[in-house]
Amino acid sequence: MEQYELLWKYQQVDMELDQYEKEMRGNSNRKELLKHRDFLLEQQNVLKKIESDVEVMSDRMEALADEIKRLSGSVAEATANFENNRPDNLEDVKKQMASIQKLIATITRYESELAKMRKDSEARDRQQREVRVRAAKARAEFDRIKVIYDEEYKAAAVKLDELKKKVAREAEGIDPGLLEKYKAIKRHAAPPITRLHDDRCGGCNMQLSAADKDKVRSGVPYVECENCGRIILIKQVD
Ligand SMILES: [Zn+2]
Repeated sequence: MEQYELLWKYQQVDMELDQYEKEMRGNSNRKELLKHRDFLLEQQNVLKKIESDVEVMSDRMEALADEIKRLSGSVAEATANFENNRPDNLEDVKKQMASIQKLIATITRYESELAKMRKDSEARDRQQREVRVRAAKARAEFDRIKVIYDEEYKAAAVKLDELKKKVAREAEGIDPGLLEKYKAIKRHAAPPITRLHDDRCGGCNMQLSAADKDKVRSGVPYVECENCGRIILIKQVD
């Protein structure tokens, strides 16, 4: 058999293999698994984000609590000082009371911030629990489908392996350079080998150039499509 006829036969099993691989990728359980896997990854990221938020919040809450404690000490000290050494003019009384009130106002502000953060933090805790529940459900579903899919895959892999062997057998006897060319064309046009249909490329339907038509008349076994790069076989090979 001529090289291009061998290549034509090779293409048939090669396309069969591609088609089968495509079907395997399109397996509905595989798609479900990927969906659950993506969902699980997403939930992990959500959890990580919540954890880091909680960490920042608890640092801030700790700092606020310390600051409130410190300011309360200052208030107690200033109050005691005021009681023990009452100033003898109104101006100083007003001044000292104002400074104590300022401290108390700051404490109040910090306390309300702290209360708000506690609430936020509790909301984060709830959110975290919800995410964990959702993730656990997805995980269980993933595991359930995985068992089924693994069985399907095992069966499919046997056929896949047979097809690969078949393709390898068909490749025997084909010039390696030609096979490389086939693979190069296949990267942008598949199937890479086609036939001539009414002076047109069977792949992209482009009409042959006058020069190529001359070549065909001269009896070459193939021409290359100027548009899609496919190898166009001239002779009927089937
Ligand atoms: Zn073409």
